[in-house]
Amino acid sequence: MQTSKSRRRFIRDLSLGSLSLAPALSSLASCAGATSQKKNGLGIALVGLGGYAGGQLAPALQQTKNCYLAGIVTGTPAKEKIWSDKYNIPQKNIYNYETFDKIADNPDIDIVYVVLPVAMHKEYTIRAAKAGKHVICEKPMAVSSADCQEMIDACKNAGKMLSIGYRLHFEPYNMEMMRLGQQKVFGKIQKLDAKNGFVYGGDPNAWRLKKALAGGGGLMDMGVYCIQGVRYTTGEEPLTVKAREEKLRPELFKEVDETVYWEMKFPSGAIARCKSSYNANDNNLRADAENGWFELSEAYRYGGMAGATSKGKMDFPQINQQAAQMDDFANCIVQKKPTIVPGEMGLQDIKIVEAIYRSIASGKEENV
Ligand code: NAD
Repeated sequence: MQTSKSRRRFIRDLSLGSLSLAPALSSLASCAGATSQKKNGLGIALVGLGGYAGGQLAPALQQTKNCYLAGIVTGTPAKEKIWSDKYNIPQKNIYNYETFDKIADNPDIDIVYVVLPVAMHKEYTIRAAKAGKHVICEKPMAVSSADCQEMIDACKNAGKMLSIGYRLHFEPYNMEMMRLGQQKVFGKIQKLDAKNGFVYGGDPNAWRLKKALAGGGGLMDMGVYCIQGVRYTTGEEPLTVKAREEKLRPELFKEVDETVYWEMKFPSGAIARCKSSYNANDNNLRADAENGWFELSEAYRYGGMAGATSKGKMDFPQINQQAAQMDDFANCIVQKKPTIVPGEMGLQDIKIVEAIYRSIASGKEENV
C-alpha cells in the first residue's frame, strides 16, 4: 500500500514530468471514478495532456461547479481515445496543435487552459485569445517578461480574460498567511524564509532541463512559489534582489539552474531569504514579525498542507486547489469581475526572476 507521503511524491513527480509518459498514461487510464462528465458552467479545453493536466487538472474538473472539461488539445494521437473515453469528450472537441485555431468556431469551449512547457505558453495563450477564448496559463507564465507582456496585450486586445495557474491563492493555509501578514496580525514582518524544491531524478532529456523550453531551472519551476509566497504574505513588492547559484550535478543541469539562493528587500524593511532547488526536498514559507511568527511547513503542495503560528497549530480544511482556482476564474468571467491571479501577477514574478538571474550573473544586488 502506498503511504500518503509516497503517493504525494508520486503525484508530484508525475506533475513535475519526472516520470515517463507510459506511467502517466497508465495512471490516467486506471484512475477510477472519473467518468462522470458534467455539463454545468463554462467549457474548458486543456492544451497539453502531460503530468499536471492528467494528474491534477482533469480530476479537479470532475469536482468543479462553474466549469467542466469540455475539450482537449494534444499532439499525441494515442491520448485522444484515452481521454475521450475516460472523460466523455466528443470528437468535435478534440484538437491537435495544427487544428487548434479552429477552436474559434467551437461554442462548447469558453476557456483554454495552457499546460505546456513554459516556452510554449506565449504562442498558445495568444492563439487562444485570437480564437476568442479566455485563457488560464500555467506558471511560470513565460520565459521572459517581454513574452508575458505580449500575452497580456493579446488577451486585452481580444477582450478576453487571462489568469495564471496560481492555485495557492485559493488554498486556506496560504490564504491564512496572506491574512496574518497583510493585516499585520503579529505586527510588522521583519524577515521571511521561503524554500521550495525536490531532488530531480527524472529523464535527463526532459524539457525542464532545456533552457529553450523551460526558460530556466529550479528557479522558474519551484522558485516562483517562493516569490509568490513572500509577495502575498507581505502584500509588498520587492525592491532589490541578491542571488547566487549552486550546481552539484552539472552533468544533469547543463543548461538550467539547479539550486538558487536569493535575498529580497521590501519597502517596509522586511527581508526575504529564499531557495529554489532541483536537488533538495524543501517546502516551507515562514514569516517572523514583531510580535510572533507564522509558518507553513507544507506550503506549496497539492494537499497535506500544514502550518503553525507562535500561538499554535493552524487547522483548515484540505481542499482541491485546482478546482477552487478554475471555479473562481469561471465565476469571474460570468460575473465580469477581475481575477485575483491575473497575467500581470505572472509578469511581475518573471520580472523578479529576471532580476535574480541578473544578480547571479553580476554578483551584485539588482533592482527588480
Ligand atoms: P509534462 O512534461 O508532464 O507535460 C507537458 C505536455 O506538453 C506533454 O503532454 C507533452 O506532450 C506536451 N508537449 C507539447 N510540445 C512539447 C515539447 N516540444 N516538448 C515537451 N512537451 C511537449 O509537464 P507538466 O508537469 O504537465 O507541466 C506543464 C506546465 O504545467 C508547465 O508550465 C508547468 O510549470 C506547469 N505545472 C504547474 C503545476 C502547478 O502546481 N500549478 C504543477 C506542475 C506543472
